[in-house]
Amino acid sequence: MIHYRPKFRLQKKYVAFLTIVPLLTATSILNTGCPVCEGDGVLSGSHNMENVRISSLDYQLVETVPNACAMFLLYRYRITITLSNDSNKEAIGWVKLTLVDFTVGKPLDNQYAVVEVPPRKTIAVRYMVLFGSGLQEHIKTDVYVQILTEDAPCPVCSGTGNISLNTYPIVNALKESFIQEAKSEVPWQPPAWEEAMG
Ligand SMILES: [Zn+2]
Repeated sequence: MIHYRPKFRLQKKYVAFLTIVPLLTATSILNTGCPVCEGDGVLSGSHNMENVRISSLDYQLVETVPNACAMFLLYRYRITITLSNDSNKEAIGWVKLTLVDFTVGKPLDNQYAVVEVPPRKTIAVRYMVLFGSGLQEHIKTDVYVQILTEDAPCPVCSGTGNISLNTYPIVNALKESFIQEAKSEVPWQPPAWEEAMG
């Protein structure tokens, strides 16, 4: 009789544990619509991109950083792309940025960035891009840039349109910053030699 109470308390904790753990397990299996692409699996909005060309490209490796678990290296690149729109219509769409293993030419990671190019304009867009390499050792890398004429696959859900329910709050909170980061633009400056030539 005297020992009944402590035993009951223990039991309550145990019950709580049994309730919470299966709940966490269940939510990790349950998928929900991705908040970034709204479940479409694509970042839509590509329009008139076939009239956009890359007039120059400049990129520097800023740093390599180990990821959270220190298992793989991440490559942070500063990429400046000068884009020209030859048409009379505004172009909106995506550029695909690919990190490539320099020695074997193998693509390691893709990132997508949004661009808006006004009609008959040349603009420069600058991005700080973090690529995953999936590799532990530091290797020589290169960056390829490609204009997409169609919609880009959503990088958050990898084009599936679904994310696991327990990552939803994090992704939803990041949605705004994800979109903001992809939109930082710099005014285009003509190269120094062009100015000197008048
Ligand atoms: Zn998505």
